[in-house]
Amino acid sequence: MKSSGLRLQHIQEKIAAAAKVASRDAADICLIAVSKTRSAAEIEQLVVAGHADFGESRVQEAHSKWPEIVGRHPHLRLHCIGRLQSNKAAEAVQLFDVIHSVDRLSLFDTLVREAQKAERFPAVYLQVNVGEEEQKGGCAPTEVAGLVAAIRKSPLPLAGLMGIPPLGVEPAPYFALLAELARRHDVTGLSMGMSSDFPTAVKLGATTVRVGTALFEG
Ligand SMILES: *Cc1c(COP(=O)(O)O)cnc(C)c1O
Repeated sequence: MKSSGLRLQHIQEKIAAAAKVASRDAADICLIAVSKTRSAAEIEQLVVAGHADFGESRVQEAHSKWPEIVGRHPHLRLHCIGRLQSNKAAEAVQLFDVIHSVDRLSLFDTLVREAQKAERFPAVYLQVNVGEEEQKGGCAPTEVAGLVAAIRKSPLPLAGLMGIPPLGVEPAPYFALLAELARRHDVTGLSMGMSSDFPTAVKLGATTVRVGTALFEG
């Protein structure tokens, strides 16, 4: 198996190649290393290789793993990329620097209240259910305007829109839809693209890609 440093370099080269095709600057694209299920030792190999942005799906797993790692490396940024329940909002605000999975007003209002209590104000992405799938998180495309307006009135910075295309189909139309929604609502950040499709996401405007498998096992 390749070393973590080599795998990291390989992913960054693919991001740079995709950015070049789209006449974009690779420096505008943030790579999140999705570290769910990975051990502290695996994570720290990437930290040593210079990586600083990590993503976790579950509050409980992040809570048991990250305080110690961040204690050793205070410059790291932790992103919440999984579905979030309101009863985990207080913990989420303490743990995460960026939350990618805001998708309803009730959750957002709770996050704002907990942020004010903790005096910690993570940036948030509004997650959109681009495939309008029953089982998936994310607001409907028709709800974006209202939720973007609510976030803009709040003390939490709006980082952008986030989306996960349906499995097993060509993802490009879903990335294009998310990019179009962002344009329409004057939002700049786009969190989209995973191991299987991040080069396509970059070509279609992703500013943040979330890569796990390819980075830890590639
Ligand atoms: C697990 C996960 C990823 C990373 O998936 P890989 O296919 O392992 O790259 C990205 N985004 C979200 C929301 C995830 O849950």
